[in-house]
Amino acid sequence: MIAAADFKITKVEHSRLNDTNLENIPFGKYFTDHMLEVDYENGEWKTPEIKPYQSFMMAPSLAALHYGQAIFEGVKAYKNPIGEAFVFRPHDNFRRFNASAERMQMPPIPEEIFMEGIRALINLDKGWIPSQEDHSLYIRPFMFSTDEMIGVKPSEKYKFMIILSPTGPYYNTPMRIYVEEEFVRAVPGGVGYAKAAGNYGAAMFATAEAKKKGYDQVLWTDAFEHKYVQECGTMNVFFIIGNKAITPDLGAGTILAGVTRDSVMTMLTELGLTVEERSLSIDEIIEAHKAGQLREVFGTGTAATISLIKELRYKDYTMEFDINHWEVAPSVKNKLNMIRYGLTKDNYGWMFKI
Ligand SMILES: *Cc1c(COP(=O)(O)O)cnc(C)c1O
Repeated sequence: MIAAADFKITKVEHSRLNDTNLENIPFGKYFTDHMLEVDYENGEWKTPEIKPYQSFMMAPSLAALHYGQAIFEGVKAYKNPIGEAFVFRPHDNFRRFNASAERMQMPPIPEEIFMEGIRALINLDKGWIPSQEDHSLYIRPFMFSTDEMIGVKPSEKYKFMIILSPTGPYYNTPMRIYVEEEFVRAVPGGVGYAKAAGNYGAAMFATAEAKKKGYDQVLWTDAFEHKYVQECGTMNVFFIIGNKAITPDLGAGTILAGVTRDSVMTMLTELGLTVEERSLSIDEIIEAHKAGQLREVFGTGTAATISLIKELRYKDYTMEFDINHWEVAPSVKNKLNMIRYGLTKDNYGWMFKI
């Protein structure tokens, strides 16, 4: 067993914090003073090291670069009004990380390394948590195979790391979405439910095609009929139809089980809506739109929290929304933010104190 006390910690001599402007900071571009690194070899995890954020050398034969055993997570830390640091639902990310690891034939990371790693790093780099609205410290745990050998088989060696990036809002403008009918993100039996690096590379072509047509993102549909909605880009998606909030169910393994998705379902129930996790067809969405029942559409995820969708395009049918009159998405976002920034009581035990 590896305990936090066993971590080897080397602190920076000079913090870069004072040279970094934490206001209106772009997503994922700046990194804090420290990072965590631990290697897996001979069937066990070695001593985790926390050290200054730095580049490292790798062999051209590094297995991850060739066959893609690489997974990641995204978690956020916030500061409350008296400056205490909290992380939002990290245990859920820990469980999902190991589910991704299992799917990619990678070793599970022990809870002590994941959780205490986050705690120890944030303790050191707490000053990097921005305090402006919609800003936070993004935590990026990841793992990749490190065998130096070209051969298609699970690697024997792996590296797990955690890096931290202070961030502002991810997508700040409401999105125009293209309903994708040619390319697919996930299929039953595939890796859609895992946060596997290759999923994101595989999605870039379709996204680029949608951008050429003037859209911000695609709404993925099922691989067989291109009829049932899955996710919006790299976010889970919610449709408010009448008094119901509908989001695709996780049954087929084609949906990434978002922590934000789960939290938003709780907030929607609190707001008095009936939450349904089920398959939802584009036909049902269009019918609801024609009947004037489709009230709001939005994406959810750690990076963006909630992204409003102002336009949805399916074949030659365009659905446009007047987001200025929306009530549900803004209330959910506000309720979540109140909890995350420590402005209201956390009734669900979501905030993990550092
Ligand atoms: C990370 C991710 C999400 C959102 O998950 P959260 O836990 O809410 O951040 C949704 N869809 C995909 C494909 C993702 O990678």
